[in-house]
Amino acid sequence: MAELTLRAVEKHFGAVQAVKAVDLDVADGEFVVLVGPSGCGKSTLLRMIAGLEEISSGDILLNGRSLNAVAPRDRDMAMVFQDYALYPHMTVAENLGFALKMRDLSASGIDRKVREVARILELDALLQRKPRALSGGQRQRVALGRALIRDPKVFLFDEPLSNLDAKLRVGMRMEIRKLQASLRTTSIYVTHDQIEAMTMADRIVVLKGGEVQQIGTPTEIYQRPVNSFVATFIGSPPMTLASAALSGDGDRITLDFGRGQSLAIPQERAHALKKAGGASAQVGLRAEHVELESGAQSRSEGDVFVSDVVLVEEHGADAIAVVRLGDHEVLARVRPGAVRAGDKARRFRVDTGAMHLFHAGTGQSVV
Ligand code: ATP
Repeated sequence: MAELTLRAVEKHFGAVQAVKAVDLDVADGEFVVLVGPSGCGKSTLLRMIAGLEEISSGDILLNGRSLNAVAPRDRDMAMVFQDYALYPHMTVAENLGFALKMRDLSASGIDRKVREVARILELDALLQRKPRALSGGQRQRVALGRALIRDPKVFLFDEPLSNLDAKLRVGMRMEIRKLQASLRTTSIYVTHDQIEAMTMADRIVVLKGGEVQQIGTPTEIYQRPVNSFVATFIGSPPMTLASAALSGDGDRITLDFGRGQSLAIPQERAHALKKAGGASAQVGLRAEHVELESGAQSRSEGDVFVSDVVLVEEHGADAIAVVRLGDHEVLARVRPGAVRAGDKARRFRVDTGAMHLFHAGTGQSVV
C-alpha cells in the first residue's frame, strides 16, 4: 500500500523557482506521468519525491507520513534513470543483486530473486554479461530489473526510454505498463514525450514553468484541456490554433479567420465566448475536427470552408492534409489517397461543436 501526497511543494534554486506550489494525490497502485517541455520542473519534482533534492517548502507524504526528514535510502522507492546507472564492472546478475546484497540477504536468497526477475524481464541468457556487452534496450531492462528486485513501495522513472530508438521505445513502454499493471506498484513517471504520457498514464500531470496546468486521465486531458498550452502540447498531430474575430449577432454568430473565410458556431458556444468578454478567440482545431466533405453532407454551409491542399502526409490507415482556413494552416484527417497536394478548391467541414475555443488573452478554455 503506497499513497503518495504532495502538498504545496516548492523548489527554489536561488532566484529560479523551478517548482511552484504543486498539490498532487497519487492513489495506491496508480501510474502517474509528469509531462511538460524542457525546464518545466518535472525532474526536480521527481528528485524531491526520491529525496535526492531538498524541498524548499511544502510536504511530501507517503501513506500520511511526512518524508521531508527521511533519507532517500529509507523512503522505500526505486528510481530508474535515463542513463540506466548500471555498474560497468559488474555482470548483469551482480547489478541485479547489488541492492539485495546491501540488505544482507543470503547468497542463495539473492540468486533466487535475481533469477526470478531475470525471467520476468527475459534477461536469463544475459546474466553473466557486463553492461558494455548489452544493447540499449537490454541495459534498460537491467535497470528496470534493479528497481523491480527491491520490491519497493514506489517506482520513480526519470525519462527511462529517452535513449532508445523509436521502435524499442514503443515496445518498452508497453512492457513497463504491463509490468506495473501486474505488480500494482504506485509509479511516478517523468517524460517530455506526450505520446508516452497519453499511452502509459492512469493520470497525467501537465507542467509548465514549474506550475501544474492540469491533472486528469489521458482522455480528459485530450478532450477537455483547460487552456491552449495543454491543448497544443497533448495530441498527435498537434492541435492547430487559429485566431478568429467574433462577428454577427442573434441567430448567426461567426468566427472570421481572415481572407473572407468564416465559420458559424453553435449559439450556446457563441454566448459563452461573448460572456468571457472576447471580441476574438483562439480556435483549437484537431485534425479529426476537420474532414473532407462528401457531396451527401452538404446540408448547411456554416461549417464548411473551401481550400486548396497545401500538403498531404500519408500514414497508411489515414492521411493528414494541410489546408488553409483564412490566415491559418490547419490539419484535416482524410482517407488515404482522398486528396493530393495541389488539389484546388476542396471543401472541408469543421465540427464546430467539438472544436476548442480559448480566450484570446488568457488562453483559458471557454467552453
Ligand atoms: P528537462 O526535460 O530538460 O530535463 P525538466 O522539466 O526536468 O527539464 P528541471 O530539470 O526540473 O526541468 O529544471 C527546472 C528548472 O530548474 C530549470 O529552469 C532548470 O534550469 C532549473 N534547475 C534545475 N536544477 C538546478 C540546479 N541544480 N541549480 C539551478 N537551477 C536548476
